Amino acid sequence: MGKAHQILRKYWNYQDFRPGQEPVIQSVMEGRDTLALLPTGAGKSLCYQVPALACEGMTLVVSPLIALMKDQVDHLRQCGVQAEAIYSGMDHRDIDRILDNAVLGGVKLLYFSPERLQTDLAEARIRRMQVNLIAVDEAHCISQWGYDFRPAYLGIARLREWHPDVPVLALTATAIPEVVQDIQEKLAFRGGRVIRTTFLRPNLGFMVEDRSDKERAMEEAIRECGGCAIVYVRSRRKTEEYARYLCDRGIQAEAFHAGLPPELRSARQEGWQSGRFPVMIATNAFGMGIDKPDVRLVAHMDLPDSLEAYYQEAGRAGRDGKPSVALLLAGAADMNRLQQQFEVQFPALTQVRQVYRALGSALQVPYGSGEGESYDLDVQTFSRQFQIPAHTVLASLRILEEAGWINVSESVYRPATVWIRSSPQVLHRTGQPGSASEELLTALQRTYQGIHQMPVPVREQDLARLTGRQYQEIVRLLTHLDQTGILRYVPRKDKPQLTFRTARMDADNLTFDLALLDFRKERARERIRAIRRYMEAQVCRQHVFMAYFGEEPGGPCGRCDRCLAADAVGQERGMKRKALVARLDQLFRQGSGLDTTRLRQHFTHEEWPMVRDILQAWSDEGMIRESKGQILYAG
Ligand code: ADP
Ligand code: MG
Repeated sequence: MGKAHQILRKYWNYQDFRPGQEPVIQSVMEGRDTLALLPTGAGKSLCYQVPALACEGMTLVVSPLIALMKDQVDHLRQCGVQAEAIYSGMDHRDIDRILDNAVLGGVKLLYFSPERLQTDLAEARIRRMQVNLIAVDEAHCISQWGYDFRPAYLGIARLREWHPDVPVLALTATAIPEVVQDIQEKLAFRGGRVIRTTFLRPNLGFMVEDRSDKERAMEEAIRECGGCAIVYVRSRRKTEEYARYLCDRGIQAEAFHAGLPPELRSARQEGWQSGRFPVMIATNAFGMGIDKPDVRLVAHMDLPDSLEAYYQEAGRAGRDGKPSVALLLAGAADMNRLQQQFEVQFPALTQVRQVYRALGSALQVPYGSGEGESYDLDVQTFSRQFQIPAHTVLASLRILEEAGWINVSESVYRPATVWIRSSPQVLHRTGQPGSASEELLTALQRTYQGIHQMPVPVREQDLARLTGRQYQEIVRLLTHLDQTGILRYVPRKDKPQLTFRTARMDADNLTFDLALLDFRKERARERIRAIRRYMEAQVCRQHVFMAYFGEEPGGPCGRCDRCLAADAVGQERGMKRKALVARLDQLFRQGSGLDTTRLRQHFTHEEWPMVRDILQAWSDEGMIRESKGQILYAG
C-alpha cells in the first residue's frame, strides 16, 4: 500500500486513510470486484480516485449527479489530475473531443452520467480505451429494491461486456441486504467482495418528537444546538416560510430548493458552508456533495420518504465526531399523510383506466385510431373537466406511460414558472401605469400566491385570458421582463403533449405489468413500514438502523431519546431505592427486630416490591438475619 499512501499525500495532502478506504483500495488493486458500503461522508470517492492514479490506464466512473460530477472533476483538476466528465445536455463536439482524448490516453478519470451509456455514440471508443477500473458511484440506483432506482443504471452492465477483465468497484451508503445482493447481481460480480464499515454514529443523538408547534420546536432545537443546522422540509414554499420565521426571531437562515436559479443556489450553499449564516432550510435537493464537518443539528419537519434517505440526511450532522443531534419532528398525523401519499402514488387500475378513457374523450380520439398521434394536454383543465384530482391524473399518466400505452412530454410534469424578483414597492415606483407589462405584473401578483418568494407554476394561457391578450404576446412580455431582471421566467421545455402509442382502445382491454406494479407497491409499503418502526421503536434508535442495515447491534448508544429516557427511568428508580434503604435502615436501628407483617405496614403497596428486593439482597449478602420470626441486622 506504499504507493496508495504516496498518492494520498501527493495529490490530496491527507496523512492517513479513513476507516474502510484502505481495504477497498487494496481489494480493487488486487483486481477484485468490490462493493464498498461506507456511510455518507466516509470518503468513497477516494476509493476509486487513488487506484485510478496508482495504476496504468484510466478509470471510468459512473455517477448519477451531474453537479457532483462537475465538482469532482474541478477538484481533481486543481490537484493536477486529468479528469473529464460526459453528461446529457453537453455539446456533441465536446463529447467527441473528450472521448478521442481518452482513447489516446489523455484522461485519467472519465466520469459518465448513466444516460450517456444508453446511447451508442460512445461504445466504439470506450472499447478502445485502456481501462483499469470501472467505478459505479451511488450504486444503489441500479436496484429496484433501493429508494432511488434509475433505469439507466442497468445499462452499466454493458461496460462490463466491453471490458470483461476490468474489475468493478461499486460504492453506496445504502446497505440494506436486498440492495447489497442486487448490486452484485446486476453488475455481474465475479466472486465479489463486500467491504463495509459500521453504520453506527456514536456521536449522533437521534430524537423523535411529536409536536403540534413544529416551528417552535425547530427554533428551540436550533438555539439549543448552538451551531450550524440543516432543517429539511418537503415543500419549497415551506423552506421560504420557515427561513422567514427564524429570521424574524433573530436567527439567520436561508432557504434552498431545486426551484431556485443555479446562481442563487450556489451562493446560498457557499454562504452556509463558509459559516456566513448558520441555518439552511432546505428540501432534499440540498445535501448531495455538501461537506461541512461541524453541523450540530439536522432537523426534519416532515417524514422522509425512506429510512435510508433519512439516515443519509440526518447523517450530515456531526461529521467531525462531536456530539450532534438528528431530530425528527413528526407523529401520527404525519404518518397518515405519508400513507395518503402512498395511495395517491398508486391509484387503483380502475382509476387509471378511467383516466385513459377520459383522455380519449377529451382529446376526441375515435376508438381504433390515434396511434402515434400527439395531442396538446393541459392537466389542470383536464382534471377540472373530469373532476379527477390533478395528482391522480399525473400518477395515472405515469403508469400508462410505463405500461407503454402513451408517451407524455416532460412539460406535462413540469409547467412554466415565474418568480418576481423586484419587491412590490420597487415595481410600484418604476412601473408605467396602464402599460402591457404593468397589467401583466398585476395579473401575476393577483393570481399566484407566493410569486415574490419563489418560482410558482404559471399558465400563459390563463394570463392571456386574464389580460385579454394573445398567448404569444404573453410569452414575449414575460421574456422581456425576465431580460430586464424584474422577474425570472422559466418557460416550459416543450409543449405539454400526449402521444398515443397504440390506437385508442377500450380501457378495459389495457394490460399492465401487474407483477412489477405489485413489486413497486410492496416496496413502497415496506419503506413506510420501516419509517413507522423507527418512529415507534421503544429501543435504542441506532439499533433500529443497525437492524435495518443488517448489522449486529452493539450496546445502546446512550444518546438517543430512548436511551436517555431509559437512563432517566433508571435514575429515578435509583433515587427511590436510596430513600427506601434509608427508611429501612432507620427501622432496623430503632427496634430490636421487626416481623414481616409489621415491616409491611410501614410501606405502601407500590413501595413493597422494591423493599422486598432490598431485603432479599441484604439477606443474600448476610446483612440481616431472621431470628424467632423477627428480622434484624446481622451485626
Ligand atoms: P462519500 O462519497 O463517502 O459521501 P466523499 O468522497 O464525498 O464521501 O468525501 C467526503 C469528504 O471527506 C471529502 O471532502 C474528502 O476530501 C474527505 N476525505 C476523504 N478521504 C479522506 C482522508 N483519508 N482524509 C481526510 N479527508 C478525507
Ligand atoms: Mg459520494
